Amino acid sequence: MSEDPAEDRMRFLLTLRSRGVTDPRVLQAMERIDRGHFVRGHFEDRAYEDTPLPIPCGQTISQPSIVGLMSQALEVGPRDTVLEVGTGSGYQAAILSLLCRRVYTVDRHRRLVTEAEALFRELGLTNITARVADGSRGLPETAPFDRILVTAAAEDPPGPLLSQLKIGGIMVLPVGQTDAVQTLIRVRRHEAGYDYDELRQVRFVPLVEGLGQT
Ligand code: SAH
Repeated sequence: MSEDPAEDRMRFLLTLRSRGVTDPRVLQAMERIDRGHFVRGHFEDRAYEDTPLPIPCGQTISQPSIVGLMSQALEVGPRDTVLEVGTGSGYQAAILSLLCRRVYTVDRHRRLVTEAEALFRELGLTNITARVADGSRGLPETAPFDRILVTAAAEDPPGPLLSQLKIGGIMVLPVGQTDAVQTLIRVRRHEAGYDYDELRQVRFVPLVEGLGQT
């Protein structure tokens, strides 16, 4: 971090571009949402580095360029309803909230949901609903969704998430074994089924079934 916060943020945006985040709406959203709010404690002064950082409950806030690449791969439109699985710090949900009509975000850890909700209120992000839930089951009461973004890795795309995607909808998620390199994939739902394409290699914390202790 340099002496000048404005310079840090300028460098942050240049790094995003150089790593392939080129969608103007996504860049604008990432310019407006200050990652500094979502990183607390020891790591606060590293908020503008393009690196994942620890958050409570043994989880991580994702690397900003990956947040940008996933947001743009999701092709979110202004009228879309989006489900995010894995609220974590709330950073990704905050970015999505500027790109669509409504975001539902779920995490299995109550503490993370409570802290993220407080931040959404503080930042005036009123179109995000955060819930404590096992996201591997989706969110049946508000399904179907135009877009689904999963920010924890499963071995395969969970069946309930596939079925809660609208026809014409898109889901982006990392798949693969825990602790190995995983593949970020994009799933498109058509009348007749699903198309899959592989986007890049990534590394996420695992999607764990059931609710957390905290
Ligand atoms: N999107 C977050 C980073 C997520 S880290 C951000 O912007 O900061 C992955 C998150 O997925 C963790 O918070 C973890 O608790 C959550 N998670 C893992 N398995 C889950 C499940 N089955 N349901 C809901 N959340 C889950």
